[in-house]
Amino acid sequence: MKLVALARTDVGPVREHNEDSLLIDLDQGIFVVADGMGGHAAGEVASQMATETVHRTLTEMADPEETRLVRDHETEDPADVLRERLRYAMNQASIRIRREAEARPETRGMGTTLVVLVIDGEQAHLAHVGDSRAYLYRNGRLIRLTRDHTVVQQEIDAGRLTPELARLLPHKHILTQSVGFHGPVEPDTTTRWIERGDIFLLCSDGMTDPLEDDQIGRLMEGTRVEDLPEKLVTEALRAGSEDNVTVLVVGAR
Ligand code: CA
Repeated sequence: MKLVALARTDVGPVREHNEDSLLIDLDQGIFVVADGMGGHAAGEVASQMATETVHRTLTEMADPEETRLVRDHETEDPADVLRERLRYAMNQASIRIRREAEARPETRGMGTTLVVLVIDGEQAHLAHVGDSRAYLYRNGRLIRLTRDHTVVQQEIDAGRLTPELARLLPHKHILTQSVGFHGPVEPDTTTRWIERGDIFLLCSDGMTDPLEDDQIGRLMEGTRVEDLPEKLVTEALRAGSEDNVTVLVVGAR
């Protein structure tokens, strides 16, 4: 499986800082998008710290010398091991951000969303906390792979709110968990088999706020992977996004 990965991030028309962070490590198959929050540029610190910590932690654990999390490796499903590593790495990020916030009062309360894709052979492993999302575009269909950790999503799940109404609510971005601010996190994780032609899309809410899933799917139709980040960011801004917009795509060939 040959992978191609590209990303684009834009500060948007309103904000002074871009608090989104992203990472592409094609060699190891690690891809990250994080959307930070907190005043005085603390959001930038949190999202960068989360991205770096997850990347470093996963890379260190890939070293055969470091076997803390892979005891009895031979008897375990490698996918289970990887998902456990993802949960561990995201918690390491959360601990590090929280410590930093305690040491520097001006960053107190900072946190970040985090969505991580690890591609290992024919499998894709995903983990996320918050409302940055992962999608899979396959055979002309866009499938959302993550469920937002937001108060409104909980209400939707409980049948008390429709997705259409939820989009209009001012508090739609209140998260039920975030990396750093909430301390220990419980990321959702999944594993999927990859097919040739699949495109994974990771993005911040600056992308998904102004555009609904079926609109994003239509924009992706017939577009080369190489052109997708530019196209999707441009369309999100055109559709009225006032937030930072980040799009990362990974295509399997
Ligand atoms: Ca955002």
